[in-house]
This record gives sequence, C-alpha cells and structure tokens, in this order.
Amino acid sequence: MKALVAVKRVVDYNVKVRVKSDGSDVDTGNVKMSMNPFDEIAVEEAVRLKESGKISEIVAVSLGGKKSEDTLRTALAMGADRAVHVETEAVLEPLAVAKLLKAIAEKEQPQLIFLGKQAIDDDANQTAQMLAALLNAPQGTFASKVDLDVEEVRVVREIDGGVEEVALKLPAVISADLRLNEPRFVKLPNLMQAKKKPLEKLTPQELAIEVTPRLHVKGYAEPAERSGGVKVASVVELVEKLKAVKAI
Ligand code: AMP
Repeated sequence: MKALVAVKRVVDYNVKVRVKSDGSDVDTGNVKMSMNPFDEIAVEEAVRLKESGKISEIVAVSLGGKKSEDTLRTALAMGADRAVHVETEAVLEPLAVAKLLKAIAEKEQPQLIFLGKQAIDDDANQTAQMLAALLNAPQGTFASKVDLDVEEVRVVREIDGGVEEVALKLPAVISADLRLNEPRFVKLPNLMQAKKKPLEKLTPQELAIEVTPRLHVKGYAEPAERSGGVKVASVVELVEKLKAVKAI
C-alpha cells in the first residue's frame, strides 16, 4: 500500500513574521524556512505506518519554488522513500494545490493521502477538503488517531467539545492535527542518506494544471502594537479600574 504526503515549505514557526515595508507581502528574505509543522506530523504518521508494516511506500510531494527541495529532503530523511517536486514560482492558492495534488494522486494511485490540517503561513485549512472533493474520496480531517486496515482506515477526529471516529473506505484523504503524534528529530546521517533518495521534478504545465490565482491580496499588515499594562496597588483599585473599563 502506498501513501502520498503533502509537505509545504513555510516560514519557521519560531520566526516572528514581518511584513514588507510596502505591505505587499510577508518578508521571507533571510528568514528561516521549515516544513509546515502539521506536515511533519503527517510524514511521521506515514513513516510509523510503514514501520509497522501496514504500508510499503511513502511518496512526499511539495509544490513551490526551488527551495521546496529542502523540505522534501527533510521528509526523505524522516523516512519517505521518494519525492515529487512540482516546481513553480507562482503563488499557489489551496484550490491550485488541491488540483496539482489530484494530478499527482492520479499518477501515483496511493491508498492514503496525508496532509497537514493547515499551513501555518496562509492558515487556509482548505486543501485536504478540496482534494478529497476533487478526488471524490472520503476525508478524515483533524486526525488525532489513525488506524489502518486493508480496506478501510479509522480516523479519530478532533471536533468541538470532543472527538469523533470515522471509518473511511480507501483510498482516503487524511489531514493531521497536532495530537496525532510527535514527529521524530531528523539526524544528520539521515539527511545525508536522504540525498541519495529519488526526487522527481515536474511542473504545473506538465501536469496540465492552471494555477493562476483567483484571489487578489490587497495588502498585509502587522497586528497593532499592544499597549503596556499597569500595576495596581490593591484589589480595590483593580475592581475600580475594571468598573471604569466596563462603563466605557
Ligand atoms: P492549507 O489548506 O493551505 O492550510 O494547507 C493544508 C495542507 O495542504 C498543508 O498542511 C499541506 O499538507 C498541504 N499543502 C498546502 N500547500 C502546499 C504546497 N505548496 N505543497 C505541498 N503541500 C501543500
């Protein structure tokens, strides 16, 4: 059984994001970039399924500029067997990503497709759902547990106020939530070995997918600075201040 895992290169979650001075975009120059954290969890889950003998091959896919190759190498170092890089400098919206992933899925015919629940740069939380719809495949989003059988996969999903368990016929699309697992630390020798694993290059044109954005982003702005707090001398003073705020 084959699994496809979608991995996106994003600004590292530890970096404080800055907006370009003209507000046209986020400044990614000289900024540490990493694999989207939810995608690391997705890769880890696929690798654990392979280690337990339930799947036989993991193909990592990334769509984006030349440097997405680094993200794919990380996925290979974590345990993916080979990688597919759809290289494009175009801004990719979730629908374009879903269409490209659909084209790859049709080529590769995986039984499981893992994605992160959301990319921490656009926070869209749309791609897995769109991909499942385009493939007419069942979806298990926000997965916190995955239990794979020969013909179906059971997914425990995190929902408001609790969890839900769904059983999906294969092939299925799964998006990883934070509590699914704790991704392994990538060691240097694994990164070296990953350089020898196959990495296929494709373009949206070769896949015959139109990726022109449908949305026009009008601008980006940083959140307003927080005003400083004040220390109060007593509970009485605090209550007085809270009453004053409420009165406003
Ligand atoms: P989003 O819908 O943009 O929040 O992204 C959800 C998930 O879709 C991510 O966690 C990735 O698994 C996948 N994804 C989004 N964009 C890309 C990309 N450019 N390359 C590979 N995977 C992507």
